[in-house]
Amino acid sequence: MRAVTQIARLLDANHGYAAARAHVGDAKPSRRLAVLTCMDARIDVFAVLGLHLGEAHVLRNAGGRVTDDVLRSLALSTHVLGVDTVVVMQHTKCGLAGVTDDELREHTGADLGFFPIDDHAGALREDLTILSETPYLDPVQLIAGFVYDVESGEIDDVVRWERPAPAGA
Ligand SMILES: [Zn+2]
Repeated sequence: MRAVTQIARLLDANHGYAAARAHVGDAKPSRRLAVLTCMDARIDVFAVLGLHLGEAHVLRNAGGRVTDDVLRSLALSTHVLGVDTVVVMQHTKCGLAGVTDDELREHTGADLGFFPIDDHAGALREDLTILSETPYLDPVQLIAGFVYDVESGEIDDVVRWERPAPAGA
């Protein structure tokens, strides 16, 4: 019964949305931006960054970490859909921070790599290095690593990477 109510609420809400929605025709993000962040329910990505519909790709997973699936999506973002800037946004009070893979494996019964976060700056640097050194992500010119504070709503601008100009330029 609860499941029926849960889904019915979603479909009800959609009736109002479909009537009033803003329509964006172009699939290419108009700000050439992709944002990778955590799935945490407290983060309203568009509001936090002042983004609007049609402006950015938003990729979310537990922790907002760079996984193989994130690389798969960014390969398409960059080569097919014109993205040249990536923001990686972790956040305070994250469930992936301060835990270990072993603890999460035991807790979930899933024998997976969970990409836990030891410290935000270190994890962001790690992820920016993967992104900047992935050969097929060569259209990416700029990457920023943020930590969003879920209590104050403020962003800590932790780390940046910019593609070096080609030699002789
Ligand atoms: Zn999180």
